[in-house]
Amino acid sequence: MNKLLASFSDLPMWAALFHPVMADTIFVRGVKGVRYFHGLYDSREAWEARKALLARHTLDVFRLDPEKAKKAPEGKTAYAPKIHDEAAGVVIERFYVETIPGYYLCANIYASADPAVNRAPMPLVMLAHGHFNRGWDNRDRFFQDSQYFGVAFAKRGFLVVAWDMVGMGDDRIDAKSAILPHAHTYNTVIQTWNSMRLLGYLLSNRFTQESSYRVDGRFVAATGASGGGTQSIYMSLLDDRVTASIPMVMVSAYFNGDCKCENGVNALRGRKVKSNICERIACFAPKPLLVISDGDDWTRRNPDIEYPYLQDVYSFYGAKDRVENFHDLRGVHDYSLKKRWAALDFLLRQWNLPRNGLYDLPYAEDIYRLKPVDEMKTFSASSGLARPAGYERDIGALYRAVVS
Ligand SMILES: [Zn+2]
Repeated sequence: MNKLLASFSDLPMWAALFHPVMADTIFVRGVKGVRYFHGLYDSREAWEARKALLARHTLDVFRLDPEKAKKAPEGKTAYAPKIHDEAAGVVIERFYVETIPGYYLCANIYASADPAVNRAPMPLVMLAHGHFNRGWDNRDRFFQDSQYFGVAFAKRGFLVVAWDMVGMGDDRIDAKSAILPHAHTYNTVIQTWNSMRLLGYLLSNRFTQESSYRVDGRFVAATGASGGGTQSIYMSLLDDRVTASIPMVMVSAYFNGDCKCENGVNALRGRKVKSNICERIACFAPKPLLVISDGDDWTRRNPDIEYPYLQDVYSFYGAKDRVENFHDLRGVHDYSLKKRWAALDFLLRQWNLPRNGLYDLPYAEDIYRLKPVDEMKTFSASSGLARPAGYERDIGALYRAVVS
C-alpha cells in the first residue's frame, strides 16, 4: 500500500468512500485499490453496508427492475430442426426468444443425445460469448471455445445455452454490417436484460413444453470469457437465480473491459461510488465463485492480488472454500481446454454432483467437428427459419422498452 493510500486507511469508512481523491485513486489505480479494500471493511457488517451501496448504484445506472427482467418472456419463440452430432453424442438446437417486443434473441442449446439424460432435470450453464474474432466462421457465440465448451459439458449431462450479444451472431448481416449496433452504451443494459429474460424462459414450463428439456433450478451457472465474463458478472449480480459464477479471463483490479457494451452505463463508478469489476463480483459471496485467469492479460496477477482479496470477502461468511482461482500461467486470453476442465471440475465439486459414469465420461474434443456459422445460426438457409417481419432496428426503442 503506498503512502497516500495508507494515510487514508485510518479514515472512517464513510469518509473514505466519499472522498473524491481517495475514490478516484481506488478506481484508477486498481491494484492498490484492491489492497485498500482489504482495510476498508474488516467485518461482515461493514462489507454488507458497502455491498448495499454498490447494489443501489448498479440498479440506479442500469435502470432495470430485476423482478421484471427475470420474468419469462411472453413473445414469440421458434426452433429449427435439431443438429445431431452422432460422433460427439450431442444434439445442438438453434432457436430464438422474443425478449423485447420486436427483438429476437438467437441462441444455441447443447444437450446430450441420450434421452435418458436429456429428459431428466439438468444443471444449466449460461455461456455468454466475448469479442473473440478469428474470422467469419469462428467468432461470436459460434467461437470455437464456445462450441467445444458446449459439447464437453452437454456430453456430461449439462444443458448449455449460448446466446448473442446485440449486433453480433444472428444480428450480423455480413462481415461489416448488422441490424443493430454492438459497441453502444445501451447494450450494457439490453444485454443484461436479454440474459435474465432468457434465463426466465429456460426455467419456465413453456421451455419444457417447447423443447422437451427441463432445467434443475438449483444448478444455474453463469460463465463466459472476456466480454462474456463481464456479462456473466452482471447477470450473477442482478439475477439471484444464478447459483454459481465462473467469470473467465476478466476479473481484474485495474481493467474493467473496454467495449461500450461492458461499461456503457458507468456501472462501476458514479458520484458517490468508485469500484472495479473485482469488488463487484465479490458481492456474489457466499455463493460458489471460480475466477479463471491466465499469465498473459489483465488477470495475470489474480493469484496474488485479486484472489486473496476475494478470499477475505468470502471469509466474512465463513465460506472461503467457495471461492477458487484457476490460474493458467502459460495460458492466454481465451477459454481453452484447461480452463474448461477447471470449470467442469469446479461445478462437479461445488454442486456435489455425483461423480458417476456420466459426469466423469472420458472425452476427446477432436471427435467434435466445429460447425460453420451458417450451420449454427438460427436464421439461415440451413435452419429454415427467417427473422419475423417488423423487427426493431432502433436501439433507442429497445433500450426504452426495458428500463424503468
Ligand atoms: Zn461489446
